Amino acid sequence: MIIDPLLRPDLTRLASATGSSPLTRFAPSPTGYLHLGHVVNAIYVWGIARALGGRVLLRIEDHDRIRCRPEYELALLEDLAWLGFEPDLGFEPLLRQSDTPLVYEQVLDRLRESTNVYVCECSRKDIGGERYDGRCRDRRLEPGSGGGIRVQLPDGDEVFDDALHGRQTQTPAEQCGDLLVRDRDDHWTYQFAVTVDDVRQGVTLVIRGSDLVSSTGRQILLARMMGRRNAPVFLHHPLIHDGRGEKLSKAAGDAGIRELRSAGVTPPEVIGIAAARVGLLNPGESIHAVDVAGLFLA
Ligand SMILES: [Zn+2]
Repeated sequence: MIIDPLLRPDLTRLASATGSSPLTRFAPSPTGYLHLGHVVNAIYVWGIARALGGRVLLRIEDHDRIRCRPEYELALLEDLAWLGFEPDLGFEPLLRQSDTPLVYEQVLDRLRESTNVYVCECSRKDIGGERYDGRCRDRRLEPGSGGGIRVQLPDGDEVFDDALHGRQTQTPAEQCGDLLVRDRDDHWTYQFAVTVDDVRQGVTLVIRGSDLVSSTGRQILLARMMGRRNAPVFLHHPLIHDGRGEKLSKAAGDAGIRELRSAGVTPPEVIGIAAARVGLLNPGESIHAVDVAGLFLA
């Protein structure tokens, strides 16, 4: 096996960082159908959890009530089962963010005791970039007036060791400014909901795509503000990129699992295609879901 440190983590070091039997999660948003990008994430989640003797829980991240649909959730679950990825904590009860709105309210109320939590009426257009400048921080706007809610972030660096990318230093207050936790449509934001869920479910290992690495510092900071003492270990894995390597479908970068299924591709072939897309297997190789730990064990 080729050892590429940006592809496969050092399992010994990772195990000592997470402790024994880490808990990780597969957490899709039901805003569409399962595609190869999800399968890459599942390979990493299940493969590394199995290689470390850890467990996988399934969480439905449906905090965005406008874009999420029950039929997508059903389809995601069905495709996942077809592929053979089984969460250790089962499918029932399944944690859906939409089922527990009070939990998020309670966490926000506790945050108010120690932090400036305020109403912000700015639109994305008003802000005009990733960083919010805090202009509503001292306006004392009333809740319920169509505004969002932000949490003031303290200054300072967040330093963490990514299991593939090594040491990272981020400055959330400079990168994004005060964090939006509820948007103007009254939805909990991804950053807030996922941080609350990882705390309350005791997730100790977060495995996700490298497109999310820049938001990790703010999640670690927010979790600490919520009272979490030890941050989870983060691993940001490679993503499927367009136009590199073999052609699978017309959309060379990604493909829906439903289309592959209806074209007669088998589950091990689908997992093999996804693994090959990021370099974990050679093109044309197949692998069963129960065997994906082997992709990470030297
Ligand atoms: Zn504002």
